Amino acid sequence: MKICGFEKFSMVDWEGKVVCTVFCAGCNFRCPFCHNASLALSSAPGIPESEVFDYLEKRKGLVDGVCVSGGEPTLSPDLKDFIARIKALGYSVKLDTNGTNPSVVKDLVDKGLVDYVAIDVKNSPSKYPMTTGVASSQLDKVLETIKFVKESGVGHEFRTTIIKEFHTDSDMDFIAKIVDGAEGYYLQKYIDNDNCIKHGYTPVPKEEAERWLAKFGNVKRPHCEDINPNEKTVKRDRLFFARVSLIGRELMPLLFIPVLLFDF
Ligand code: SF4
Repeated sequence: MKICGFEKFSMVDWEGKVVCTVFCAGCNFRCPFCHNASLALSSAPGIPESEVFDYLEKRKGLVDGVCVSGGEPTLSPDLKDFIARIKALGYSVKLDTNGTNPSVVKDLVDKGLVDYVAIDVKNSPSKYPMTTGVASSQLDKVLETIKFVKESGVGHEFRTTIIKEFHTDSDMDFIAKIVDGAEGYYLQKYIDNDNCIKHGYTPVPKEEAERWLAKFGNVKRPHCEDINPNEKTVKRDRLFFARVSLIGRELMPLLFIPVLLFDF
C-alpha cells in the first residue's frame, strides 16, 4: 500500500484513544480546502510498510489503535490485507473515508476488520461537486455508505469541514437529516495552510458554528472544534499532556521489574 505519512502518536485522531495514524496516498476528490494536498495528489514521498509494522510490533500494549486515513484509503487495492495485519497485532482500527466506496467499507465492517468509521459529509447535494472539487462526486455512494455504517452497529462519526463560502443554514439542515441518529458528528474548522489545494477561504465564526451544531440534537455526540483564538495554545497543551501520558505508559513496565526480580 502506498503510505505517504505516519504519525506515531496522536490523542486527537480517535476520541479517548492513544493512536498512530497512517496516511494513504491518493484521493478521488479535490476538495479545495483539503489541507493534505500532498496526500490527495500522491506527491508526498512514500514510507515503507515495514516502518509502520516495526513500530506497531514494538508498541503493542502501549498504543490503543491505528487510524487509517488519507487521502482516501479505500482506493488502495491492498487496504484489506494491510488492516488485517494491523488487527492481527491486536490493535483497534479506525477508518477515515469520504464514503465513495461503500462495498469496501461494508466488506471491512462485515469481516470485523474495523472498529470505528469516520465519514465526511461534505455538503448538500447541489453543492457536492463544488465542495469536493470534482464533477462526479458520487453522492449516491456516499449516502449508501452513511446508511450502512449507521445501521451496522460499528462505532462511527460523521464530520463536515465548514467554510463560509460553501455552507449555509439550509446546507446544514440537509446534513443534519442525513446524520440523524448517528453516534457522533463533528464540525471541523477550516484552516488555511501551505498544504491546502486552494487558499483564501473564510472560517465560519464560532457563534455560527455553535448555532449550526444545535441542529444536530439527534446525534449522540455532536461536537464542534474549539474556534477560539487561543486554539493553538489549547492544542499545544493537550499535546504536551498527551506526550507526558505516553512517556508514563512507556515507563510503567519498568515499575514492575523489581516485582518480577524480587518477588514482593
Ligand atoms: S479533504 Fe477531500 S481531497 Fe482531501 S483527502 Fe479528504 S476527500 Fe480527499
